[in-house]
Amino acid sequence: MDKSNYKNIFVFVEQRDGVIQPVGLELLGKAHELAQILGEKVVAMFLGHNIKNQCQTLIEYGADEVVYADCPELKDYLTEQYSQAIAQISDKYLPNIILFGATTIGRDLGPRLSARLATGLTADCTKLEISEEKELMMTRPAFGGNLMATIMCTEHRPQMSTVRPGVMQKMARDTSRKGEIMEFKPVFDPSKFAVKLVKKVKADKGKMDITEAKILVSGGRGVGCKEGFEKLGALAKTLNAQVSSSRAMVDAGVMPHDVQVGQTGKTVRPNLYMAIGISGAIQHLAGMEESDLIIAINRDKDAPIFGVADLGVVGDFNKIVPLLNERLQKEMQEK
Ligand SMILES: Cc1cc2nc3c(=O)[nH]c(=O)nc-3n(C[C@H](O)[C@H](O)[C@H](O)COP(=O)(O)OP(=O)(O)OC[C@H]3O[C@@H](n4cnc5c(N)ncnc54)[C@H](O)[C@@H]3O)c2cc1C
Repeated sequence: MDKSNYKNIFVFVEQRDGVIQPVGLELLGKAHELAQILGEKVVAMFLGHNIKNQCQTLIEYGADEVVYADCPELKDYLTEQYSQAIAQISDKYLPNIILFGATTIGRDLGPRLSARLATGLTADCTKLEISEEKELMMTRPAFGGNLMATIMCTEHRPQMSTVRPGVMQKMARDTSRKGEIMEFKPVFDPSKFAVKLVKKVKADKGKMDITEAKILVSGGRGVGCKEGFEKLGALAKTLNAQVSSSRAMVDAGVMPHDVQVGQTGKTVRPNLYMAIGISGAIQHLAGMEESDLIIAINRDKDAPIFGVADLGVVGDFNKIVPLLNERLQKEMQEK
């Protein structure tokens, strides 16, 4: 294979119900940084139906070009339809790198495409860099998060990776950015469409995704039970925050998996992360240590969480959380 034929960083930008997903914009931001080192372009791949009018937004968030495919077959994500379209885009444009969000869609699509394009895929990356030889260095936790493995795909192209939502940062929107928008018309083989979308059922309409929250009040085994989490819920209400959890409380059946922070949960980067009764295991830290401000409440002064906290309170959360909540409510009323 002549690697020099393969150029540019392609980013698969997900849409759901026509809404661009934040992880796509985060990846455009990272791709912009990497493309400058490589001297290549960032190309957004955008698939859906009636989505053309959103292509300019992708340019404003860092894409130099957009390749979009707009047809009824691509309205909702379906593995085969999307795999056929992206494999054809890849065959035409020969990307050097393709990045996907490590979402349910990206985790389904990435492996399918890596098999179809006969190349490698590094899943769930937390860091992407370019080596001196201009290869993509893809870093991800390995062996239960006890070490970080950096993986390269030197023999095949495109180099492909999935990256978790919330890990990379999107660029500030620049409405003056200009770029080329190109339509791609996939030629489908419907005989391979084995799956039909019958209906879509949304999980929980009222609840916000914790990766989108500006403030998270997170509880661990030290919080212990539903009554403990009610105290955290009251504080979260005052702060207009969401409640999240360590894996210990998910495994115990106290909290649902979709609010788990960490290596096997979600990666979050809120403005404020409150870690309450959480020891700070490496698998938990992997999901929250990039938060802007971390406040830990723990009765063990030697808990590892204090190693990453900006502010630490040593004591029993049962006493501290209600007092803090009361004080905040009072201050807010006085304002
Ligand atoms: C492959 C793998 C993947 C994993 N993925 C994740 C993951 O995604 N997310 C995750 O969180 N974990 C994950 N884990 C588990 C992780 O290793 C820890 O076991 C887990 O994070 C511990 O949760 P915790 O901090 O709530 O509990 P503990 O480690 O038991 O800590 C409880 C803390 O509460 C404090 N405490 C107790 N009572 C009080 C009180 N009244 N007031 C204040 N503080 C109190 C204690 O001092 C202690 O520090 C994973 C593990 C493996 C092996």
